[in-house]
Amino acid sequence: CGIVGYIGGKAAAPILVEGLKKLEYRGYDSAGVAVMEAGKIEVRKAKGKLAVLEGRLSYCSFGAQTGIGHTRWATHGKPADENAHPHQDCRGDFAVVHNGIIENFQTLKEDLIAQGHAFTSETDTEVLAHLVENFYQGDLEAAVRKVVSVIEGSYAMAFLCRHEPEKIVAVRKDSPLVVGLGDGEYFLASDIPAILAHTRRTFILDDGEMAVLTPQGAVIKTAAAGELVDKAVFEVNWD
Ligand code: GLU
Repeated sequence: CGIVGYIGGKAAAPILVEGLKKLEYRGYDSAGVAVMEAGKIEVRKAKGKLAVLEGRLSYCSFGAQTGIGHTRWATHGKPADENAHPHQDCRGDFAVVHNGIIENFQTLKEDLIAQGHAFTSETDTEVLAHLVENFYQGDLEAAVRKVVSVIEGSYAMAFLCRHEPEKIVAVRKDSPLVVGLGDGEYFLASDIPAILAHTRRTFILDDGEMAVLTPQGAVIKTAAAGELVDKAVFEVNWD
């Protein structure tokens, strides 16, 4: 339902939670964040209000400067802690948040289970984490492109990878996604209000586009071929 992301020089977790609060008007049943913390991905998530998640974040170090967050409106799997996003692969090397529905998740899930993947949720989304783990060969962008080539349905999604700690890779189809361009910091959101406190300069992603965020910049590419897109900056002029 709601997606946020942050990469830059500040502590990510509070920025992610504040961004999610700006998306609360859309409704949600659970929430979660994943941050890159000392070479590891730390995930905190909770059924219920953002205040419940915030309580769990007090145990989390606020040093991390890269992260993604989500508010969930369940489509597959009941509202529950384990069904909240972000979802992870078996080893915890990846984290993903997703808006939309993966229509062919059941077939993909059966294949992945046959290959030995253990699932911990009832969601369609969790296949994304196991797929990216399968496809990863040292290049998160390439792995996400492969994920996109096997899934059907609607998605705005964002990935973290433990082996590429200063990077967020996001892609969309039939579900909105926006990049916020700050000064040495970059934001991701499913809707503009989540980033307006930080910047008015944005890239509005189109279907089939991928955003690659690092502390050095935000680059838009085609999700199919990884070719650079010469994206125009959209300046938000409303409050
Ligand atoms: N289909 C996903 C789920 O049920 C994402 C729902 C959403 O867009 O929040 O977990």
